[in-house]
Amino acid sequence: MAVAQLSIDLTAVAHNWRTLAAKSQGETAAVVKADAYGLGVAPVGRALAAAGVRSFFVAAAEEGVALRSAIDDAARIFVFSGHMDGDKNTIAAAGLIPLVNSADQLLRQLEALPGHPFGVQLDTGMNRLGMEPEEWASLRDIALGQSPQLIMSHLACADEPDHPMNAQQLNAFRTMTDGISAPRSLAATGGVLLGADYHFDLTRPGVGLYGGAPYMDARPVVELDIPIIQTRLVRAGETVGYGNSWTAKRDSLIATIAAGYADGLHRVMGPKTQLYADGVSCPVVGRISMDMIAVDVTDLTAVPDQLQILNADQGVDDLAANAGTIGYEILTSLGQRYGRSYVGGQA
Ligand SMILES: *Cc1c(COP(=O)(O)O)cnc(C)c1O
Repeated sequence: MAVAQLSIDLTAVAHNWRTLAAKSQGETAAVVKADAYGLGVAPVGRALAAAGVRSFFVAAAEEGVALRSAIDDAARIFVFSGHMDGDKNTIAAAGLIPLVNSADQLLRQLEALPGHPFGVQLDTGMNRLGMEPEEWASLRDIALGQSPQLIMSHLACADEPDHPMNAQQLNAFRTMTDGISAPRSLAATGGVLLGADYHFDLTRPGVGLYGGAPYMDARPVVELDIPIIQTRLVRAGETVGYGNSWTAKRDSLIATIAAGYADGLHRVMGPKTQLYADGVSCPVVGRISMDMIAVDVTDLTAVPDQLQILNADQGVDDLAANAGTIGYEILTSLGQRYGRSYVGGQA
């Protein structure tokens, strides 16, 4: 085996969705943008549909096409980027529901696909996507007259429960939508955990399904095993890797493993990251290279064929902390080169 093996636990994904659904008021959807956060939209989508998900969210219409071919026609697929120029045929053919973000998009939708389901995204302060309050005020009667499937907005600081932005956005959303009969949605994973005030008719968790913060009770979803290419004895005083950044303090057994920064194991995470062999941790030594990492396995009683970098001891949020980033970025950077296998579910 020449490449690292990524194992994706679909039973854990379904479990995480069920537990988030149990915390949510109303319907619980699933966000599967960016190829289900790097884990594979077809197998993840199928597993979630089998678990009971009836509504999915993707970032772009093209992603909706890939998802639609994996799941049945009855499931709803919402598109965050709305109805962009050129999306008409894709939206119609794959039966997608654009979340229109502006007057232009609303007009484009109503002209190009009259009678086709759509939703509306509102900006409540994040200033990323969605109609501004004044824009919404002038268009809401037109939009609501077309029976939109969903009126939604997105929280900027939901992973910080005490942040005043949460209540501020909740207020803004209520001001813009109280009294309408269309279903409403405000909460992603962080918003689910903020409590029922934030749930409205539909919640839309993403990262929590895949085992990431802020859903600390999530079941881990990914394991990553990296084969050892060779081991060598490095004498005290000798160096390992580019830039001679690590010098052996003792005679050491060094394993060179077959993954690197080209596989999403960011170079910056090296100094803080461990590899695991049967629960024993072994530090990365020297610089992470494009396709290889050197690991100090001196303290293992027996050297296995492979070492683990993602497991229950060191999850995506640990690697993220080691790299100064967030679990979302670790997940979506997972290498295309990995062999992938799915556990459970209906992959
Ligand atoms: C990505 C995204 C989500 C899901 O967010 P998580 O933090 O991964 O749960 C929900 N809504 C919108 C608008 C998003 O962009």
